[in-house]
Amino acid sequence: MSEGFTHDAWAEAVRDGRLLGATCRDCGATVGAPAAACPHCGARALAVRDLPTRGTVYTETTIEVPPAGVEERGYQVAVVDLGDTRVLGRLDDEAVTIGDDVVLAGFLDDDQGNPAPRFEAV
Ligand SMILES: [Zn+2]
Repeated sequence: MSEGFTHDAWAEAVRDGRLLGATCRDCGATVGAPAAACPHCGARALAVRDLPTRGTVYTETTIEVPPAGVEERGYQVAVVDLGDTRVLGRLDDEAVTIGDDVVLAGFLDDDQGNPAPRFEAV
């Protein structure tokens, strides 16, 4: 009875201050980004659910040369470990580094109008 874990649903939730993920009904894996099927076992039975909005910075890096016309130089991206899964997001505080606790604090739109979750230090 799943319609899959669509980008539209995920993006709408991000704009609403939530992070959507999905749990595979077959293998129990948690998916942190929109997917048509479980990346672990290939099953399409994904149960969409809310993910925690607080986590720990797993890795972060600063993108020095963004695609032409997209952004100011030097924006920070991070992979945030939420416990069950990890999600890609944006940071806007260069003091935040690996191992720091962060919380969802909004979103930033890219040039395609797609929201990226924005995290800040707790
Ligand atoms: Zn699975």
